[in-house]
Amino acid sequence: MKRLIVGSYFDGERLHADGPYAVIHDGSAILGIEPSEGPAEAAFIMPSLVDAHIHVFLDGAELDPARRKQAMAADGDSTLAVATANAEAAWRAGLAVLRDAGDPRGINHGLREGLARSRHPIRLRSPGPALHRPGRYGSFLGAAIADDREAAATVAGLCEQADDIKVLLTGVIDFVSGEVKGRPQFDGDTATAMVATARQRGRPAFAHCNGAEGLGIAIAAGFDSIEHGYLMDENSLRAMAGQGIAWTPTLAPVAAQRRLAPEISGFGPEVLARLDTILERHAESIARAAQLGVMLYCGSDAGGQGVPHGDGLIDEMLLMAAAGVPMATLLAGATALPRARWGEPAAPIRKGGAFAPLILPQSPFERPEALRHARRPPPGE
Ligand SMILES: [Zn+2]
Repeated sequence: MKRLIVGSYFDGERLHADGPYAVIHDGSAILGIEPSEGPAEAAFIMPSLVDAHIHVFLDGAELDPARRKQAMAADGDSTLAVATANAEAAWRAGLAVLRDAGDPRGINHGLREGLARSRHPIRLRSPGPALHRPGRYGSFLGAAIADDREAAATVAGLCEQADDIKVLLTGVIDFVSGEVKGRPQFDGDTATAMVATARQRGRPAFAHCNGAEGLGIAIAAGFDSIEHGYLMDENSLRAMAGQGIAWTPTLAPVAAQRRLAPEISGFGPEVLARLDTILERHAESIARAAQLGVMLYCGSDAGGQGVPHGDGLIDEMLLMAAAGVPMATLLAGATALPRARWGEPAAPIRKGGAFAPLILPQSPFERPEALRHARRPPPGE
């Protein structure tokens, strides 16, 4: 039996700030937590992190467009090696559950099997391909549905291997106009059929969705979560709060676009100003979502240009904190909330929970940037 003396901790749902506490454990399970005398060996501990939106087959640290294109066409073995390195980077940054959001060749399924075979402690949830309309946004992420009447059968087939079903419901935001590109890819009836088919098989469905028209369809269909959700509006937020639909706002990929050097992005001053407006408006919507009690997931969109795996989630969390999301809401959205909603093993800092904490050098409630310095206890500690 060992004791780890901590200054304060977040159990997955709430902060315990009246430390120091002694976390009594046997190296694998928490046997109890009780008030203690100082000095603390760890300033702050919390459960390991969940990234709700990644593309594990893509290296987000690669900025060069030509090399990114080459990587898309690389053979399966070298892409699987990239994906494995991405999962390792995520683990080092303090992540333990990753939800992949689609790749066209099933590298995500292959990596999930490889991680399980090697008994790696990180968990990858894999949808296989993301579903989209032929000729519309998403061909680099998934499989196309040409006929709406086939949508439910396609979802049913994917459910045999998928942990989640990912639907590309709309296009992306046009950084010149600030509007969403094109009409929604699927109508209300088709989206509802896809969600219902997934739910019957115990799989959450999540939707890439931007703009009011797509949001209306996604909310009526009852997706587990809405991804991106740019051009969010008050009515949609109220409906999401009422229906328990979570939101993964992914500030990080757009912030990364804003940071790209002009010679890489080709963005002129007008596009940069537009990006600033989009990011400001999105930050306001996220703060409003937190006020209204919309469940917020933290998802980095890692793999996107300029968003590295692991560190990208910390960027996302700091952007959400800066937008005004209270730290307890933010940490719950990156730990206990998604685990509970997806049926992942719970990992609370609580008697009976696994002893697998992240140790931070300072409380993120005092200094959010402390999230950048998470480490795990060395084996045997
Ligand atoms: Zn994505």
